[in-house]
Amino acid sequence: MSLDDHITPQLYKDGTMTPDMFSVEQARFAVRLWKSMAIGSGTWTLPGVGKYRRTGDTTLTLIEIHAGNPVNAVLGNVFDRHDFIVKFANQVGWIVYENVEKAYDAEKVELNVPNEEIGRVAVCSADCGTVIRIEPVDVWKRFHKIEEGVCPVCLDDGFSDDWNGIHVVIDEKSVMLRRKQVEEEE
Ligand SMILES: [Zn+2]
Repeated sequence: MSLDDHITPQLYKDGTMTPDMFSVEQARFAVRLWKSMAIGSGTWTLPGVGKYRRTGDTTLTLIEIHAGNPVNAVLGNVFDRHDFIVKFANQVGWIVYENVEKAYDAEKVELNVPNEEIGRVAVCSADCGTVIRIEPVDVWKRFHKIEEGVCPVCLDDGFSDDWNGIHVVIDEKSVMLRRKQVEEEE
């Protein structure tokens, strides 16, 4: 049985990946590439996603996050998304682990997430409802660097100087709740 015979029905069977999401060429290329990587040291970098290391016969491990432009994540090729890679790999019998050693933002600056400050939070002092929080790095979160105390949501001066240069996760839940409340009152 050729690789294609295996790949195609496996990928399309549950309906979550339709034939127009990617070509068999891309699928074949990806699997051939992974198999050509040395176990333990071979790495594969996907621009805007991160770096994967082949850690076993059929295992990859995400070791670096390279945050891409969110616009590209929506409009770009599906191969530009980690969640797609995980799903795709599973369908062709590979497993993707995550053991992130380094993470970079869209400007290729290494994320500054001080370990000893994990869990620290602040609320925007301009009272827009935005909460920022220092969270452990993982690929499913988006990080935003606080600069000059500017609140990433209302763009006012919202946070004290000691937040400058730190990459935080933005919690907009309160902002959303307020917007909803205003809409209901109107
Ligand atoms: Zn704000």
